[in-house]
Amino acid sequence: MNQLNPYAWIDRSLETIRQANWYRSVRSIESLPGTQATIDGRVLINFGSNDYLGLAGDERTIRAAMQATQQFGTGATGSRLTSGHKQLHQDLEDAIAGLKGTEAALVFSSGYLANLGTISALAGKQDLILSDRANHSSLKNGARLSGAKVVEYRHCDVDDLRELLKTHRDNYRRCLIITDTVFSMDGDICPLPAILALAIESNAMLLVDEAHATGIFGKTGAGVVEHFDLVGQPLIEMGTLSKAIGSLGGYVAASNSIVDFLKNRCASWIYTTGLSPADTAAALTAIEIISTTPQLRQQLWQNVAALKQQIAERFPELRLISSQSPIICLELPDASTAMSIGIQLQQAGIFAPAIRPPTVPTSRIRLSVMATHQPAQIAHLVTAIAQIFTLTSVS
Ligand code: PMP
Repeated sequence: MNQLNPYAWIDRSLETIRQANWYRSVRSIESLPGTQATIDGRVLINFGSNDYLGLAGDERTIRAAMQATQQFGTGATGSRLTSGHKQLHQDLEDAIAGLKGTEAALVFSSGYLANLGTISALAGKQDLILSDRANHSSLKNGARLSGAKVVEYRHCDVDDLRELLKTHRDNYRRCLIITDTVFSMDGDICPLPAILALAIESNAMLLVDEAHATGIFGKTGAGVVEHFDLVGQPLIEMGTLSKAIGSLGGYVAASNSIVDFLKNRCASWIYTTGLSPADTAAALTAIEIISTTPQLRQQLWQNVAALKQQIAERFPELRLISSQSPIICLELPDASTAMSIGIQLQQAGIFAPAIRPPTVPTSRIRLSVMATHQPAQIAHLVTAIAQIFTLTSVS
């Protein structure tokens, strides 16, 4: 008798993904995090890292993680409300609140979980969520999980947001606006002052995702909220410890009462194990470095300006997605061109991932600049782009 296979559709689905050039798989990086990445034994210049300040491979963060492991072990062994809370967690939360200028902060196992849990704790079936169309997956899925009515506004379009508020706001109990501050796959930043003004006018909550901004933007590295001089305004900030902070985990920074509410209502914080001592201590040390070393940020912005200027001067015909951050994307016509250029860059000694649908609407090569890149590494990238784009004649 022929047996039915309830899993057969999975192979068919994988085949469709392959045919669309959307198939993804992992690649091992064999070296310490930094401006070089060893892949298959070859040393490449790394333009694919979110470790913007080079702190994931910094000897001070590594030492802090090792010492915390020796002192407290490898795991937190329980959720924060049961047996998994340590003074180290509180110290990190105090440091995040200090950096952000908020009353309090709460640390999660990842930024993704911070968004899922916080958004679904803040909004429910009777509520409205307005979400930028280009928001990160974790914001979108947090909104879905909440059960609220979700309406997307056009990317960074304040007029569209205003119209949607006019149409929908009064039909719902509460309203939450959610947006990335730095858009992770484009590199542009949201018009935060105008969005905040609309939120205040409409009695709406505002949650901003500072994942790619914390440590980089603002005078003290607090993020885009500080960049726009909005510290102390009525908004909720979330972010990750895994990019400029160089560790693992997520956070929410907000008022005492919001943090207290999350400790009591946020499932992705309550029912999960506390952050490991190593991750916690590394993040704490990274925040100390960020707070005391503004030169790191200056170096990063110098590198960003140098790369943008060289690309603009040498390749005026190249399509760069408009960016105000260390994320610089070369827009390409389709997924197979993006894949092919990614491979050619790798052959020329550069690691920079091709990003394709469904992650983004259009295919691209995503370059991320680090504070620790040397001028010669940036020059190498520009030369590689020159060679490849002359051969491929893609503009
Ligand atoms: N928000 C944004 C904008 C991100 O880019 C990411 C990570 N890619 C996250 C949230 C999730 O953070 P984490 O990696 O800590 O889960």
